[in-house]
Amino acid sequence: MQKGALVPDSLVLGLIRERVQQSDCDKGFILDGFPRNIIQADALETVLKEVGKTVDRVVAIDVAETELVERLTGRRTCKACGTGYHVKFQPSRVVGKCDKCGGDLIQRNDDVESVIRERLKVYSEQTTPLLNYYDKRGVLRRVEGVGAFDEITRRITRALRD
Ligand SMILES: [Zn+2]
Repeated sequence: MQKGALVPDSLVLGLIRERVQQSDCDKGFILDGFPRNIIQADALETVLKEVGKTVDRVVAIDVAETELVERLTGRRTCKACGTGYHVKFQPSRVVGKCDKCGGDLIQRNDDVESVIRERLKVYSEQTTPLLNYYDKRGVLRRVEGVGAFDEITRRITRALRD
């Protein structure tokens, strides 16, 4: 992890197996950002089956690529206190300076456009097939991810309940 490499699937799956058996997961749990490919999804299904659980909802949040690039490339973080900003959606009062502490706002290396385009390419090659995978199992719900924060939250809540 210190080298910035990804954690191996077997480790993540071991952690999930252990965590979902704790009592606060009796009524359910949410996995955010996992699985990201078919191999992980198959392995997750096996692990959950072993502990008597199943994936009963998958929420895919649809956002156009141009919108995603705008959201991600606009993110800024205060170097001193870590407060998050967005150049368009949540700008600081003084450009490049933190409202709270006056520290310099920086762009994280992985929020640079070339890196984001690469992440989106990996997503489209490896993660998009999961839509079909979970749709076939009848658990997929797609949510429009453009709009007001509260409205999108309501859509996700509804998708989890239906
Ligand atoms: Zn700050």
